[in-house]
Amino acid sequence: MTKKQVIILGAGLMGRLIALACAKEGFRVSVYDQGGSEVKDSAAYTAAAMLAPLAESVATENNIIEMGLYSLNRWPELIKGLSKPVFFQQNGSLIVWHAQDQSLGKHFYSQLNKTQKIFPAQFQHEKITHEKLNLLENQLDHRFREALYLPHEGQLDNRELLDALLIDAQLYGAQFYWYSPRELSDFPESSHFKIIDCRGLGSKQSITPLRGVRGEVIRVYAPEVKLQRPIRLLHPRYPIYIAPKDNDVYVIGATEIESEDMSEVSVRSALELLSAAYSLHSGFAEGRILEMNAQCRPSLPNNAPIILKTNERIISINGLYRHGFMISPALLDAAMEMILTDQSNLAQQFSIESSLPHASNH
Ligand SMILES: Cc1cc2nc3c(=O)[nH]c(=O)nc-3n(C[C@H](O)[C@H](O)[C@H](O)COP(=O)(O)OP(=O)(O)OC[C@H]3O[C@@H](n4cnc5c(N)ncnc54)[C@H](O)[C@@H]3O)c2cc1C
Repeated sequence: MTKKQVIILGAGLMGRLIALACAKEGFRVSVYDQGGSEVKDSAAYTAAAMLAPLAESVATENNIIEMGLYSLNRWPELIKGLSKPVFFQQNGSLIVWHAQDQSLGKHFYSQLNKTQKIFPAQFQHEKITHEKLNLLENQLDHRFREALYLPHEGQLDNRELLDALLIDAQLYGAQFYWYSPRELSDFPESSHFKIIDCRGLGSKQSITPLRGVRGEVIRVYAPEVKLQRPIRLLHPRYPIYIAPKDNDVYVIGATEIESEDMSEVSVRSALELLSAAYSLHSGFAEGRILEMNAQCRPSLPNNAPIILKTNERIISINGLYRHGFMISPALLDAAMEMILTDQSNLAQQFSIESSLPHASNH
């Protein structure tokens, strides 16, 4: 019997998740990406991969938080099923601020309290004094008198994940075609296979309201810094986060600039990110800069994701904005329901957009 066929455009985060799931379901899977197997030009390669739905809730719609909470539970299961290990931890995250920025801490705390009323069961957050901070991160307690602790938040290693998904998708028979940019028009309308469009910003021709939101991050090797969990520093001009990875590596990020400029990290951004990191922990001074990366987040006018069924053949998954790692398991499960049964209860449950929002003035 001939296998059902699926063509996936884009081998970034979403493309790889869908490729593996479809290959496991017995589809004949072909994946096209415009870049090489490391997908250095994808948002997924640059991302810090923090899984922080509660910290993000201060500036995010409730359905995104819901998808984030669902995905926090799904990631361990997805990662356990992979044949190569992927760094994942759910050690919580901390929000800190310098004494002069106390009003920012207060505002953040009141926003978290609002979210807690909507998600009381899953939402835990705690204002902690410097004794508890000392227990959690003993290198920070002399700089910060209090902090907010979100015990359930997580993070993973984006590049290990991309690698592991690729290996397993190939093991299940998926074929990957590198340096092979494709447009939807490259596939004749008479063809019988489904096309899943996961090209992120590469889909701008077909999803016209898509825009890029520039983000810059710096990877630093800093063996003097011993942080156990992602830390966000609230700051009036340059708020940052620091996400610890394996082997004393830290991702310091990220700027958020309404621009599709893909050029290198600017001097101003580098100064701001590194100064803020140094103000959080002086051990960064002797760190070594491994990489500076700039990329654009694929975003729709409402900064919410979309699963768009253009016709019987084409499904587009896009608009993951700054939340791709945080919500992709929810999008994966909803999209698979749609691929397998032509409809999705999960997509309804999470109020995932199924038609294009109108362009705004961004
Ligand atoms: C600086 C930064 C920090 C971030 N931090 C976080 C974070 O901490 N937590 C979090 O949850 N999210 C974070 N994100 C967001 C996350 O990375 C994205 O939401 C996610 O990667 C989007 O996934 P995607 O598969 O839609 O797009 P991508 O990962 O960008 O993949 C798209 C793929 O399509 C390919 N492609 C493009 N055009 C074509 C074409 N014509 N033909 C074939 N292939 C094509 C590209 O080469 C690419 O491989 C961050 C993003 C950035 C930029």
